[in-house]
Amino acid sequence: MSSVPEIFGSLVFNDSVMKDKLPRDIYKSVKKTIEMGETLDPDVANVVASAMKDWALSKGATHYTHWFQPMTGITAEKHDSFITPTDGGRVIMDFSGKELIKGEPDASSFPSGGLRATFEARGYTAWDPTSYAFVKDGTLCIPTAFCSYTGEVLDKKTPLLRSMSALNTQALRVLRLFGQNDVKRVISTVGPEQEYFLIDKKFYDQRKDLQFTGRTLFGARPPKGQELEDHYFGAIKPRVAAYMADLDQELWKLGILSKTKHNEAAPAQHEMAPIFTTTNIATDNNQVTMEVMKKVALKHGLVCLLHEKPFKGVNGSGKHNNWSLSTDTGVNLFDPGDTPAENAQFLLFLAAVIKAVDDHQDLMRASVAFAGNDHRLGAHEAPPAIISMFLGSELEHVLDAIETGAHYEESPDGKMDIGVDVLPKIPMDNTDRNRTSPFAFTGNKFEFRSLGSSQSVAGPNTVLNTMMADVLMQFADELEGADDFYAALTELIKRTIIEHKRIIFDGDGYSEEWKAEAKRRGLLNLESAVDALPALVSEKTIRLFERHHVYSELESRSRCTINLEAYVKNVNIEALTAIDMLNQDIIPAVLAYEERVASTLAAKKAVNEKLCSRGEMRLLEKLSDRIADLMDKTEALEAAEAGAGQEDCPFKEARYYHDVVIPAMEAARTVTDELELMVGAEYWPFPTYAQMLFNI
Ligand code: ADP
Ligand code: MG
Repeated sequence: MSSVPEIFGSLVFNDSVMKDKLPRDIYKSVKKTIEMGETLDPDVANVVASAMKDWALSKGATHYTHWFQPMTGITAEKHDSFITPTDGGRVIMDFSGKELIKGEPDASSFPSGGLRATFEARGYTAWDPTSYAFVKDGTLCIPTAFCSYTGEVLDKKTPLLRSMSALNTQALRVLRLFGQNDVKRVISTVGPEQEYFLIDKKFYDQRKDLQFTGRTLFGARPPKGQELEDHYFGAIKPRVAAYMADLDQELWKLGILSKTKHNEAAPAQHEMAPIFTTTNIATDNNQVTMEVMKKVALKHGLVCLLHEKPFKGVNGSGKHNNWSLSTDTGVNLFDPGDTPAENAQFLLFLAAVIKAVDDHQDLMRASVAFAGNDHRLGAHEAPPAIISMFLGSELEHVLDAIETGAHYEESPDGKMDIGVDVLPKIPMDNTDRNRTSPFAFTGNKFEFRSLGSSQSVAGPNTVLNTMMADVLMQFADELEGADDFYAALTELIKRTIIEHKRIIFDGDGYSEEWKAEAKRRGLLNLESAVDALPALVSEKTIRLFERHHVYSELESRSRCTINLEAYVKNVNIEALTAIDMLNQDIIPAVLAYEERVASTLAAKKAVNEKLCSRGEMRLLEKLSDRIADLMDKTEALEAAEAGAGQEDCPFKEARYYHDVVIPAMEAARTVTDELELMVGAEYWPFPTYAQMLFNI
């Protein structure tokens, strides 16, 4: 086997490959495009395309695809082969600059939220040179953005790139105020920790719910759950270890910095964390990671479940989005510095995050709002639906001192002063972490923990970047006009803390007291996706995205519609699957068991009328009661389903599914799960939780 450094990035057309394969001037021109966002000259593109093709052929590729991220949240690809006919019925392998730069997939089958009239079905994809091309399964994948011909964005990458650009613009303005003139670019960085479940494929194949919806719609709790807490960071079982080793190899080949792997809280649950990188690349990498995770699992006879809540009553899966800002000179802007000046700058960026989170709680919540994540947020193990932030006691102490101008023992003269040089070295102990906080400061980055395991990180990071850009813009506007910069800075930081400190919370986010306290503080508690999604089209949100050219109003509205439609489709598929399982599998299974009990009873009576059959009678009565109940619940669910589709707007339709269909599904589940524990194991039509969770 080759060494890790040898295989790392071996399937990626990365910087060193480009340096090696491209003429010097061409390489320089591509670098400039990547680093400064300049446009690529068509002649240059031809040379790049040809080198890329030769390299891809050497890696066994026969096809290429413009790899893009439509608003379904997964990636899309349409493969074209490199073959071009020549004389004599022969072919050559060809790839032009034009084909590299632009593609034209039929856009009509991707969600557009009403943006694109069906007659204008065409869209185009455009190469994003900031993310490297790679070879996957014999196909050269070219990361691209996806737009409609009228210019509206139809994907998740374009707005993310726009948000990064907005953030860069505003952060640079702020850095200039601190005399940071050598910084040319500010980028946001992300390290998404990915949680997942692994189960044996033979169990998966027996469950329609897992196959159609990604989660179990029925299933009683096993006698042993995660209460022993023996799985978290526990020894990794051989079969899982083999999977993880294989996964690492595949990810490394694709240049993905898979770094940490461990067991998670629930049985059969695991996590992979990559080393962080630029948000755009982290997003592309995470999409590939999810795909590779599923594919590698199949090779091991396993299925990788990325749903937020595959098993009721068992910890769900999230994606912790570690987010920070850094300069092209290598400075992390969320790193408290060693000198007073560095600390003043850190405090300004910190104040900006505090204000941004408080101003846009609703939008942050909406960025993680979809049907799957509703099973997590607000449930016991996940962050609550209320958005707040955790800073840690050291930092809160510093902020308190700034706010009150009070005595602060760490500083030389005991007083906090941002303006002159007494601001002390900010002590930072990031071991004391609050795991219940949805947005926690962890020493030099913020960890947004509300993301669902299956979702693309593009949306939430577009939100984080844009809201941050907006506050930095307001700060720069104010400070650029100031006569005395440090006096104005002090005043601004102090005012921001006073106005927005309600968003800071370091207590137990799962507790009932926090719900009450958050309400007193006027924080939002948007419990479900249906409550949260309207924030995408509030006046405040629409103007925010417009101001920074991230989404036009039309694009904001279409995204909201797409999310609502996705919610409806998701719950609808779940309801239909549940009805199918009830009628086709569950009810017949109970009847078969009843028949068994009834025939035992009859057999006994046939032997001797006087034989004791109280037990059989009681069991039969219990089963009969439950099956009557289950029939009621099944019919109620069918009626709820039949009542859908009447609403004239997607908000109302989603609300209907949330208020009517989901409770009907839950009611049928409750009875079914009770029955599962009563009916003989050999009669039950599906593998149980215990089988799936403890048999790897
Ligand atoms: P954990 O939160 O599990 O204790 P770490 O703190 O080591 O783990 O890091 C978690 C994730 O945060 C990793 O993916 C890591 O690469 C990422 N990370 C670390 N520093 C940054 C940064 N400056 N920007 C973005 N992500 C970062
Ligand atoms: Mg973490």
